[in-house]
Amino acid sequence: PSKEFEYSRRKLENGIVEFWRYASTHLKDLYETKDSNAAKALAKQMLDFMGEHKGVILADINNLESAAGITEWKLQKSLEMTRIVQNRLKNLQNPRNCAEARRLRCSINKACGLGCQLHHATYCLIAGYALNRTVILESKGWRYSKKGWESVFLPLTKTCKSSDIGTPRAWRDDPENDKEPVIELPIVDNIQGASGNNKRPLWLPLAVPRDLFTRIHAFHKNPPIWWMGQIVSYLWRLQPSTQKILNELTTKMVFASPIVGVHVRRTDKVGTEAAKHEVSEYMEHVKAYFDQLDVTKKTAVRRVYVATDDSAAFHEIKKNYPDYEILGNTDSMDSAALNKRYSDASLIGVITDVHFLSQSDHLVCTFSSQVCRLAYELMQARLPDAADFYNSLDDVYYYGGQNGHNVRAILPHQAANPEEISFDKGDLLGLAGNHWDGYSVAQHKVTDRKGKFPSYKAEEHFVKYDMPHYEDRSD
Ligand code: GDP
Repeated sequence: PSKEFEYSRRKLENGIVEFWRYASTHLKDLYETKDSNAAKALAKQMLDFMGEHKGVILADINNLESAAGITEWKLQKSLEMTRIVQNRLKNLQNPRNCAEARRLRCSINKACGLGCQLHHATYCLIAGYALNRTVILESKGWRYSKKGWESVFLPLTKTCKSSDIGTPRAWRDDPENDKEPVIELPIVDNIQGASGNNKRPLWLPLAVPRDLFTRIHAFHKNPPIWWMGQIVSYLWRLQPSTQKILNELTTKMVFASPIVGVHVRRTDKVGTEAAKHEVSEYMEHVKAYFDQLDVTKKTAVRRVYVATDDSAAFHEIKKNYPDYEILGNTDSMDSAALNKRYSDASLIGVITDVHFLSQSDHLVCTFSSQVCRLAYELMQARLPDAADFYNSLDDVYYYGGQNGHNVRAILPHQAANPEEISFDKGDLLGLAGNHWDGYSVAQHKVTDRKGKFPSYKAEEHFVKYDMPHYEDRSD
């Protein structure tokens, strides 16, 4: 290890010790302060002090990482893995003789929005990879565009023609089914695995191909999300005409780093699938992001890209946050209105927004929306490890229709009140959410009790699955 590494490590260690010295002493003071105004003043001072110190500690961790050469190493590893995985997908999708290859037919036209449809196609491509079948994507009668998938995205295959689709048989989870030349899957909500009884195929998200797992985990904190990012980015290959629109907008808006992407999902989602969040909640995280950057180098312009289906949210941010440069595409917002939503203009609009969100350095949104999850996934394919580059105002990351998301206790916990659950070290918990206040919610896999627990007491329990072996052929 270098001298710089050891200096950074000492500084970090010192920072954590000092942080606790300050916090414990002043919390005791706060506890003993009788005068409520004095208590308020002290609490405010503590928030500022600790907020800034947290920023210094996080900056020191970054220094430690780069002093150890890890930042550059992660970049190289992620590029290498991206090349391997994209190449495998390309080979799977371009069999030399399509009519002889095993195929999986999939229609983009699920009755939902683009994020949901892209995730449906993601599920098909994961199934294709897991079952060694070339995915043929149908887009006739697409609710967004009569002109079909290829009016905006590149085709999923160059060697298969639509006449190669053939007549699909419904998929069944048994080896006999492997012999069927063409199959079709039910939507993810309805798929069942071999043993019925709601057992679902083990290749569904959040499973990661076993042969890739360790190599991904070496540079990425959350391999399932990176794997999703690879699948999504294979689908999200834009036609030159789409790319041209985005390039022109990039220049016109002066879209440049550092920039935070904010997605405010309103209209039909609010009150049905998600709660409404005020713009101030989003902007609090935006401020925290730039404050953190300022610890090492003051940002001259605090840029924010706002994507939304409710242009009022955009105008409110523009009006109330004059210290920020607010970018956004009002054409996209207007075309996202419910009565115009399924049109060519709206398709370009949502592609534009997802694109710029994914090109941001940090995302602030609600993960209950597939639009934001899509942008987050694409971000993983662009950067070595962007697992932490977000704030979700509601859910933790998930894939709609995923198999369970479990975490494993690394420390025991004794419930402090009826809202909490108890567990032993090593117990498996089904994660249900994160309160983003240091506590998560889970259901104990053995006791079935559901409740809160300190987030730091558990870690991800990743699922690896044996998917077919793919040669890394490159022709
Ligand atoms: P979800 O309903 O938010 O989970 O995501 P879906 O993608 O399934 O459906 C929402 C649809 O609403 C999108 O596909 C868009 O057509 C539209 N929409 C939602 N948010 C935005 C946005 O920020 N910008 C644009 N242009 N359209 C949006």
